[in-house]
Amino acid sequence: MIGAGAVGLAIARRLALSGREVVVLEAESALGTHTSSRNSEVIHAGIYYATGSLKARLCVAGRKTLYRYCAERAVNHQRMGKIVVACDESELAGLSKYRDQAERNGVDDLQLLGRGELAALEPEVRCVAGFLSPSTGIVDSHGLMLAYLGDAESRGATLALGSPVISGRVEKRGIVLEVGGAEPMTVESGTVVNSAGLAAQAVARSIAGIPPSTIPRSFYAIGHYYTLSGASPFRRLVYPVARQDWLGVHVTLALGGRVKFGPDFTWIDRVDYRFDAGREVAFYSAIRRYYPGLQDGSLLPGYTGIRPKTAGPGEPVQDFAILGPREHGVAGLVNLFGIESPGLTSSLAIADYVAELLVA
Ligand SMILES: Cc1cc2nc3c(=O)[nH]c(=O)nc-3n(C[C@H](O)[C@H](O)[C@H](O)COP(=O)(O)OP(=O)(O)OC[C@H]3O[C@@H](n4cnc5c(N)ncnc54)[C@H](O)[C@@H]3O)c2cc1C
Repeated sequence: MIGAGAVGLAIARRLALSGREVVVLEAESALGTHTSSRNSEVIHAGIYYATGSLKARLCVAGRKTLYRYCAERAVNHQRMGKIVVACDESELAGLSKYRDQAERNGVDDLQLLGRGELAALEPEVRCVAGFLSPSTGIVDSHGLMLAYLGDAESRGATLALGSPVISGRVEKRGIVLEVGGAEPMTVESGTVVNSAGLAAQAVARSIAGIPPSTIPRSFYAIGHYYTLSGASPFRRLVYPVARQDWLGVHVTLALGGRVKFGPDFTWIDRVDYRFDAGREVAFYSAIRRYYPGLQDGSLLPGYTGIRPKTAGPGEPVQDFAILGPREHGVAGLVNLFGIESPGLTSSLAIADYVAELLVA
């Protein structure tokens, strides 16, 4: 395994449970320090994604398994639901598009609500109409990763921190990886899963023998989060009807009840998590469309996250690219590219999917 984020650890767990000997190579000195700890921590219902896509299928399947798993393993989570709201008449069409898409994806529990019903649920939210998604929730992503790791380790898996894969080659008897860090080593395995997130394309390109034509281009889009000082005016998540390639500046609640707003969306050309405080004005005006009670001075800079993308500005949004031997011709190898949202929600279903690719 290359990469100890939520998806990498879910796969490590799945492979260890199926009896494989698993070593997780992680470049950083701790697990999950990249995208898996810089996201909204939302358990998505599966509303938005193109029908039949991996995002749609693995989100819906993964969400159900994730709720069960969190309950069984006492991972902190809360199924508080979310409302999706149209702020004016022009957004009503967007709302019904989401509802139709959700139905096609097998998300059958959305409840259409009028202004009065929404006001009763969330008195601080201004909108003309909306719907409630009861199966949306939040999860402690760090607790989830520790639970995945615990399961994997209990079946003999090992996590090697500070162990960046720096190159590799495909040989007849398996895949050889050169690992850097304080104690460089060479690792040889019949099975390699590249779940290196933002670096997955770079890792794949560094392994001689993987056809370059099977490695998609790599793009990054940063999102900022602001937190709200003081108590939460909301009881559930609130999403506006938004642009196609992201979900808008929405309200997420952290498990302690703190309110986060975000993420916004800007293309960047390298992984750089610095927070741009110049976003504030845009956040105030985006949020006040549905939360007019937002007080001046109440937004505090939070954190950023970077979306691993396989298509760039102006291009259609791409599906997860989870490519096995059938796609690239290398036995025992699975590359995961573009595992952006809803990757956290889908993690257990992605793990099952990868395990199937490895036996097929
Ligand atoms: C702004 C934002 C909001 C999101 N919100 C949600 C949400 O609300 N719900 C949801 O379901 N999903 C959400 N996601 C998506 C979700 O966070 C990701 O899909 C998921 O965390 C991806 O996990 P991962 O393990 O693939 O990647 P990562 O967490 O990035 O892990 C990859 C790991 O690989 C390691 N690595 C890199 N290079 C090497 C190397 N050469 N050798 C060894 N290790 C290496 C990295 O250090 C890292 O630890 C969001 C994403 C973003 C960016």
